Amino acid sequence: MFNQEMQKLGEARSIIREIFEYGNRRKAEIGEENVFDFSIGNPSAPPPAAITEELLRLLTTMPPEKLHGYSSAAGLWEVREAVAAYIREKFGVPMRGELVYMTYGAAAALSATFSALIAKEGEEIIVPAPFFPEYTVFVRQAGGVLVPVMTDAAFHLDIGAIAAAITPKTRAVLLNSPNNPTGAVYAEQELRSLAEMLQKCNMGRENPIFLICDEPYRSLCYGEEPVYPMAVYPHTVVCDSFSKSLSLAGERIGYIAVSPQCEGAEAFFSAVMGAGRALGYVCAPTLFQRAVAGCLGQVSDLAAYRENRDLLYEALCGMGYECVKPEGAFYLFVKSLEPDAAAFCARAREHELLLVPSDSFGIGGYVRISYCVKRETIRGSLPAFAALAKSYTK
Ligand code: PLP
Repeated sequence: MFNQEMQKLGEARSIIREIFEYGNRRKAEIGEENVFDFSIGNPSAPPPAAITEELLRLLTTMPPEKLHGYSSAAGLWEVREAVAAYIREKFGVPMRGELVYMTYGAAAALSATFSALIAKEGEEIIVPAPFFPEYTVFVRQAGGVLVPVMTDAAFHLDIGAIAAAITPKTRAVLLNSPNNPTGAVYAEQELRSLAEMLQKCNMGRENPIFLICDEPYRSLCYGEEPVYPMAVYPHTVVCDSFSKSLSLAGERIGYIAVSPQCEGAEAFFSAVMGAGRALGYVCAPTLFQRAVAGCLGQVSDLAAYRENRDLLYEALCGMGYECVKPEGAFYLFVKSLEPDAAAFCARAREHELLLVPSDSFGIGGYVRISYCVKRETIRGSLPAFAALAKSYTK
């Protein structure tokens, strides 16, 4: 007998990973160039040259124990301070190194944040839907409940619906902008309206509602970069990573930044440290802590993702598919050509198109196309998308 909840979680697996694994098997069978794998958000743009140069510099100038040994649990002090200084200078908020905790990517940052925040079983985290499916798992492991609230037709915030979902058990609103899976980027006015609504709700509450901002796509914006959430709401925690911005998804490096204006910021930070300890995080990879600290503000080839977006968006719209043009990240969220998105994905698979059905994102009837792939994959896939659309007109 094992932990039944964990066993179920392991057996269920993420649908994204399942399709990704199928794609790998299929590529081995019929050749990589014949499979159009849009399943996973694994960046195809290489890390910026600055990362390679910084890694080489570190590897050739620093003693091994400073690169491969344990760091302090919250991270190397100079790295935490470098991240804080970057946030201070770029966004004009009074961030401090003492409130930065280095993690294994944004996933670990979110898990530790939920574990630190959720004080009682059943407390609630509100999230605009559609949302990144792993949130359900991270919130559940911390004893909480994820409460999805549908966004509007353009996948932007419905502040009234969020306000209506707030209960005495609400601990936080979780935002992800630029958004996976929709590509929406929340405008400054949207965030200000949300902040105003939350501040009103906070009056008379024992604990303020936190804003948890999952930001691995912040620098992957095709328009103006969004406002920094700490600048509009005091009780904010930012969970960030370098997985997408520097194409370092497999290196597992990110951080939690707790706003100094957050109520009980120091106590909350201690709870984050405790959560990291309880989850067995020990410390984030030391070599990559140093590498990213030397490359803050750098971004992988955003122009390549923009070209992919434009090519795919224009082509699919021309074929009659319906979708909202993404403002950031590297996902296109497309209306399924039949109500059952899983059945649509199964039919797409017959054309060697690997798409992710939207059901686990908290909405039915859509598919997610991850377009952080090589340009040839997009070009090669267009006849298959056309054939798929045609198969529905017969
Ligand atoms: N949050 C969102 C919205 C994501 O899309 C992902 C990864 O795809 C993560 C968090 C996890 O990121 P990381 O690889 O940095 O743990």
